[in-house]
Amino acid sequence: MQTRWKCPNGCGGVLAPTRPRKDDVRRYCLPCSKKTGRLVERFSPAMEKKRQKRAQVSKEKTKKKAEKAREAERESYTVEGVDMRKELKRVVRLPVFGGPKGKLAKRPPHLEVKNGLRGGMLGLAYGYSNRIEISKNQRGYGPKIAKDTLIHEVAHIYVDRVMGRDTSTHGPTFNKIYRQAYYEYFKEHAPGSATGPWRNTQDRWCIA
Ligand SMILES: [Zn+2]
Ligand SMILES: [Zn+2]
Repeated sequence: MQTRWKCPNGCGGVLAPTRPRKDDVRRYCLPCSKKTGRLVERFSPAMEKKRQKRAQVSKEKTKKKAEKAREAERESYTVEGVDMRKELKRVVRLPVFGGPKGKLAKRPPHLEVKNGLRGGMLGLAYGYSNRIEISKNQRGYGPKIAKDTLIHEVAHIYVDRVMGRDTSTHGPTFNKIYRQAYYEYFKEHAPGSATGPWRNTQDRWCIA
């Protein structure tokens, strides 16, 4: 394929292959080269345009790929439409957990969102390894239960790690912290009482 090669100084162009050999004289404007004492390279506007277009396409492809990867990552942390990473950042900063400068905000638990948890639990907390697991399979309970599960597990981490209390898993200390966190987060009281039916629901959610 032939294309027009032009001199950068505006001399007349010549037709030459799109990929001329390195030593093809048509790559250079000889009159200009003679004048300046240095080889003056011709360029092909059509090829230049193509190259720019290719670069643009490749740039867009890279961008799209990165966007897709980000979207996939966000999706992997999304439970019932809630981005758990985002919510976790909010939850660990709650006043009950010490606020933005508290121990929990400074060293938040490691979050894992899994397709299913053992025993069909909605969430699990591991105080000793500072880790929480949230199930993606929330049985369609909706965003509020998903957020509630997160608050519940973070409350376990706080009681275990920060308070260092050796209490029963869903005992009075846990319930006090959990209910306070729930209130600070949702601006309403958690339904039920520590010993009521809600408590049983929690037990089914989480064996910590
Ligand atoms: Zn020239
Ligand atoms: Zn629990």
